[in-house]
Amino acid sequence: MKISVIGTGYVGLVTGTCLAETGNEVICVDIDKAKVEKMRNGEVPIYEPHLDVIFERNIKANRLRFTTSLEEGLDHGEIIFLALPTPEDEDGSADLSYVLNVSEEIGKKIKGYKVIVDKSTVPVGTAEKVQEIIAKNATCEFDVVSNPEFLREGFAVDDFLKPERIIVGSSSEKATDLMKKLYAPFVRSGNPIIVMDEKSAELTKYAANSFLATKITFMNEIANYCEKVGADVDLVRAGMGSDSRIGKRFLFPGIGYGGSCFPKDVKALRKAGKDRDYDFKILSSVIEINSAQKTILLPKIEEYFNNNLYGKTIAVWGLAFKPETDDIREAPSIDMMEGLLSKGAKLQVFDPEAIPNIQKRFGDKLIYAESMYAATENADALLICTEWSIFRTPDYEKLKKQLINPVVFDGRNLYNVNDMEAEGFTYVSVGRKSVN
Ligand code: NAD
Repeated sequence: MKISVIGTGYVGLVTGTCLAETGNEVICVDIDKAKVEKMRNGEVPIYEPHLDVIFERNIKANRLRFTTSLEEGLDHGEIIFLALPTPEDEDGSADLSYVLNVSEEIGKKIKGYKVIVDKSTVPVGTAEKVQEIIAKNATCEFDVVSNPEFLREGFAVDDFLKPERIIVGSSSEKATDLMKKLYAPFVRSGNPIIVMDEKSAELTKYAANSFLATKITFMNEIANYCEKVGADVDLVRAGMGSDSRIGKRFLFPGIGYGGSCFPKDVKALRKAGKDRDYDFKILSSVIEINSAQKTILLPKIEEYFNNNLYGKTIAVWGLAFKPETDDIREAPSIDMMEGLLSKGAKLQVFDPEAIPNIQKRFGDKLIYAESMYAATENADALLICTEWSIFRTPDYEKLKKQLINPVVFDGRNLYNVNDMEAEGFTYVSVGRKSVN
């Protein structure tokens, strides 16, 4: 099939590449000239495990091409995916300008039947709006489908190739059949393609992300309470998670969720509720608790240094909002680092992939280390913000020698408390006993 993808970020590029991998002819359109140039030169512009191999393979096979011309994209694809940003607007709602502006152009430019597929995360009613905007100018038949994306950065290729489910929101039989045909190679093991109306599909994505953000936040509250009463959140988590109604995943406490999706999607659903006189109280609590959770270790670090962080050097391991990505949008590390800098601390930071993005934001305010141990060299303490695998089994002896004080503030609960005690560290994590 001939496919076009408008917007080649984390979602668009993975979508385009994976659809090319199953034999489709794909053109990816992006407004960012430098990005398109990079991709034409065979460079993957983001860090996403396993993407480079299939990216290269499909370019070589001429199934994957890149352009800045929307017109070229619209002429090519019978199915046109919108994978455009829907960032948080000032009032918390989703900014639909990217999606609606491109829709306007689509209406003016399409020449034959097209299925316009919205992969961006958008509020209920957007498919209807897109339909109306295109219809204003279109001189040919078209359908609009809502097909929210559930991939996770860091596992995006795997998630796209082997989705647990695909949601297709459509009231057109013709468009639904095309979508089923396109996705058939990805659901051969029997995972469902769930067809529903457009509004329900749009809400499914917000409901899923808000539920996951709530699950994390609930666990963070349990962790905070564990610290008050001397319970161990790891044990509570294991006990709770073995109940199949609850499940083991998304129960790990820490310094809050971040990323390009959960924060904006929870706020957008709350705002969409407000616009219909519905007060999502639970989401307001999630937003408030998560915001406080991001800096929950800050007072503990200050307390350790007798409320004087001025001139202290803190090593920071992990800057991306989660492991296996270079994405730093809304990362808890940012809140922690801003808090520490405002108290006069110096920061020696390391992340396997996110340094270039952090550098764009913090410039020369941070000292960028080449390795995890270069960051801890002569630092007064270590702070961990992201659970990259390479941090999981450090050389404790080396760490102790390098740090001026053998103290670790762990926002991701990477280490066993008793092991850290035995190794002679002062160790502060989330929801477990601290050792001194
Ligand atoms: P992104 O910011 O990484 O990428 C968006 C791309 O669109 C950029 O390359 C940008 O240059 C391009 N763009 C902007 N305006 C354009 C235009 N007029 N024409 C062509 N290209 C244009 O965004 P993303 O993370 O891929 O997210 C896209 C959508 O998917 C959002 O709605 C997001 O909420 C949703 N989503 C994201 C994820 C994720 O993990 N990142 C997962 C599921 C859903």
